[in-house]
Amino acid sequence: MTYLFIDTALSALRDFIDPATLFAFDLDGTLAPIVADPGGIRVPAAVREALAELRERAVMAIITGRSRRDAQRHLGIIPQYLIGNHGAEGLPGWEQHEEKFRRVGGQWYRQLHKMIPGMDSAGIAVENKGMSLSIHYRAAQNRPAARSLVLNAIGLLVPAPRVVGGKYVVNLLPGEAPDKGTALMQLMRQAGCAKGFFVGDDQTDEDVFQLDGGQLFTVHVGTGTRSRARYFLRGQREIPALLRHINDTLAEANPESIRGQGR
Ligand SMILES: [Mg+2]
Repeated sequence: MTYLFIDTALSALRDFIDPATLFAFDLDGTLAPIVADPGGIRVPAAVREALAELRERAVMAIITGRSRRDAQRHLGIIPQYLIGNHGAEGLPGWEQHEEKFRRVGGQWYRQLHKMIPGMDSAGIAVENKGMSLSIHYRAAQNRPAARSLVLNAIGLLVPAPRVVGGKYVVNLLPGEAPDKGTALMQLMRQAGCAKGFFVGDDQTDEDVFQLDGGQLFTVHVGTGTRSRARYFLRGQREIPALLRHINDTLAEANPESIRGQGR
């Protein structure tokens, strides 16, 4: 990975993006700083304002692990596309599968509560996001023990989920549900965008990063974890500067147009 805020990388970014690029972002840890209580995340004002501007200049998507409803509460702006549940919710063309994904999520939720009795007192919490489950064990006294308890239970779930790890969390996704990579490619087709720009910090964002090809520009947020992204930022605090670069580049390329406003 190459640090994005050096001259050669920034000029690669400027050369890559144009008004036909789809700009997609993860939410937690990318647009908003991670906080101890996931219910308390806040998209900083500078990020929110830059996103509002970008939305007028190009096609923008948020692809998050949260449910769409939950994400919308925290976003403060309405992107052209809002995809939830790590790619499984709200993706054009997949509407007819969502009911099944939702049913599977409910089945896992009930099975887990039976298999791990007293999970609350063990510091384990199962979050049902509709089409995916997140099992948090950040609050456990003994996190390694909680983690093995959780992984053992997951191994017994029917139907078997796709399991993606995170920081003190394990995510369960329906095996046949679209992941973030599938979601991004589908959105590009849907929106008629030949190129895609994507920033994220999670394990599930690797589903985008591992897609190779010149039509994508990928940025991982944070250092210290291995990633298949082409570029990285040192932390979430660098996101406002990134968004400014993007908006300035689009404005230079096409000073006339703020999309759909004719000014
Ligand atoms: Mg994230």
